This record gives sequence, C-alpha cells and structure tokens, in this order.
Amino acid sequence: MNNLNRKSVLTPQQDILFCNLASDAKATIERILTEHHVRLPDQISVVQRYSMACPAIPTCGLAISESERALPGIIDQLETELQRLGLQDEKISVRMTGCPNGCVRPYQSDIGIVGRSGDKYMLFVGGNLLGTRLNFELRDLVPLKEIVPTLTPILESFKRDRLANEGFGDFCCRLGLEKLEALMPDAAGKKPKINEANGNTRLAAPEWQPGNDATPALPAPQTQTVPLELPVPQVESGSLIACKETETFFVGPKGEERRDFAYRYNDDDSVRETIVYFYEEDRRAAEATADHALRREAIYAGRVNPLRLHAARKLRDLYYVGPAGHERIDRCILYRADGQPAQTIVYLYDGDRGAADVSSGSPVRRQIAIRNP
Ligand code: SF4
Repeated sequence: MNNLNRKSVLTPQQDILFCNLASDAKATIERILTEHHVRLPDQISVVQRYSMACPAIPTCGLAISESERALPGIIDQLETELQRLGLQDEKISVRMTGCPNGCVRPYQSDIGIVGRSGDKYMLFVGGNLLGTRLNFELRDLVPLKEIVPTLTPILESFKRDRLANEGFGDFCCRLGLEKLEALMPDAAGKKPKINEANGNTRLAAPEWQPGNDATPALPAPQTQTVPLELPVPQVESGSLIACKETETFFVGPKGEERRDFAYRYNDDDSVRETIVYFYEEDRRAAEATADHALRREAIYAGRVNPLRLHAARKLRDLYYVGPAGHERIDRCILYRADGQPAQTIVYLYDGDRGAADVSSGSPVRRQIAIRNP
C-alpha cells in the first residue's frame, strides 16, 4: 500500500481523513476534537454532514452574496423540514456558493444554491450525492429566506412519491422542471416563462452556437421553446451584413422592449464582445418590467452564451443610476484576466457632481480613472 506514512488526507468534500493510525488512537482523536469544540459525525445531522459552502464574502473578492455565513441558517431550516417529514436520515447534498464560479461544485449536488445578487440566489436541483450528474436550474433570484419554503413542497412530494431507494436529486431529475415548478409556491405566476405578448420564452433566445460552451450542456429544461422572431434588419444590399458593427436582442411586449444582450463585431464578422444588460435588483430583461431601470452593462470577451455567463471572461461592468429612461452612467470597472478589478472609472457631471446628484440632461464633464491595488 502506498503512502503508508500519510496520517491525514484533505478531501474535496472539505473533510479530513486520519489514516493509518492504530485503532486505539480513535478515542484520543475524538477527545482532542471535542476539547476543541469540533463536533463528531454522529453529533451533526445527515444533511449538515453532506453540506458545503465556499467562503464568499468574508474572504473572497469575487463574492456577490453570502455563502458560508448563510448556509448554517438554511441547514437549520432544512433540518426542521426533514425532521417533520421523517426524512432526517436521507443523504441530501447541499452546496452553496457566493457567486456563479461555483467553487464548491454546486452544479452537481442534490441542491445547489448560487449567489446571484445580494440576498438573491439561483436554486438548482437534480444532481446527486457523488457529483456524477449535473443538476438544473429550478428558479432564479430566490431571496435567501425563500429558499427552504421553495424546496419544501418538493421535499413533501419526494416523501410521498419517490421510488424505492430513490435519492432526492434522482427524484427531481425524474420529475423534471415542469412538474417541479407546478409543486412550488406561486407556481401559477412563475410557470409560464413565456412572454404573453410575443410568445417568446426566456430560453428562446437566438440559438447558441455549439462548440462555444466551456461546460457540458445541462439537461434540457422542459419548457416550451418557441423560435424568437427577430425583426429583419432593413438593409439595402447583402454586402452591408459584412459591415455589421453591433446586434442587439430585445425582450418584452410591443412598446416595452428591453435590451437583453448585444454583440459587437470585428471587421471579419467575428464577435468581439458580448454585452448583457441587467436591470434593477440585477434582473435580466425577461424578468424586468418597463419600470425597472438599467443598472449595469456587463461586457464579456468574444461571443458568450448570455444564459450561461459563469465561465465567460468579463472585461468590464458599466454601472448606471437614475430612473427608467433617464439612466446616467456612474462608473465603470475594468477587470484583469484573473477576474480581479484592474481600474475604476468615475464619471463626474456639471458642477463636478456625481451621477446620482444630477438630472438626466446633465453633460459629463470629467472622468477619473483609479487604478485598483
Ligand atoms: S464560488 Fe465565487 S464567492 Fe465562492 S469562493 Fe468561489 S469565486 Fe469566491
């Protein structure tokens, strides 16, 4: 046997294995752990044992939401629900991260919770305990306090309708998104991700080009997919297509169209940059209304799938303030290749005032570039 001298192993589950010790060492190790307030496996619930969070806001510069400090509260609530349903011995993996980079692999767990914006999270289900299957998005922008209430009806259905020896992730995978959505609270308001006015679904954006995905495809969500009817550009000759500089895609009913994303082209017709528009509360255009103001333009290198941004290389963020229709640029953050901010540009308007202190017609007078440490 190799590594006979190795006494401890750090695992990708954030566990430590103490190996190759004499059997009578166990009592001593448990005493030392207890003296240092480390709880032993049989002193924590099963769901806690299989849960994991990234550090996020206390130490990670990329975090946009809480993770390791928020997970204990979620586990407490889950423990209560699992106990109530008699599911306390079920091995259910819960992984939580403070941003879509997914450092604790939330995309393979039974339940994945991914920070999206402040206290709002993307909720995934359908992976498994061993992490051998990707899960799928159940719901986006779920407030922290709504995470367990959103999952509870699915846990109840799992208790009632599961097959023999079927795990929670397997159950979710078998039912699929449409049936799970019908179980969740306010399903009536969320289920049809179809724009009533034009019949487009949120997932019916222009077809993504195969080969550009950095990650394997997720199982196809069971939503109705309707081809997006984009207006045909009025061009006078085919040669103008070769000169295309930008192409912008909109969602929303007639008269309330909102920019969703755009491509900027190089001279050779390849895509130089992808711009994704975010509205108030970090909503995408399909989730915003005409009253939601533009708050951010996120600009990525090359052609990027606008529905799967976590693997994309971001170049800069442009932030806006002001009500819908009167947004003013406030600042721009440029990023290095490693994702860390490199430079912040602040815009100053008439009277040397910031964007939040001027009206919508005020001209920009000065911009200051600050190098980030
Ligand atoms: S998932 Fe995001 S917030 Fe969490 S450690 Fe990784 S980069 Fe940081």
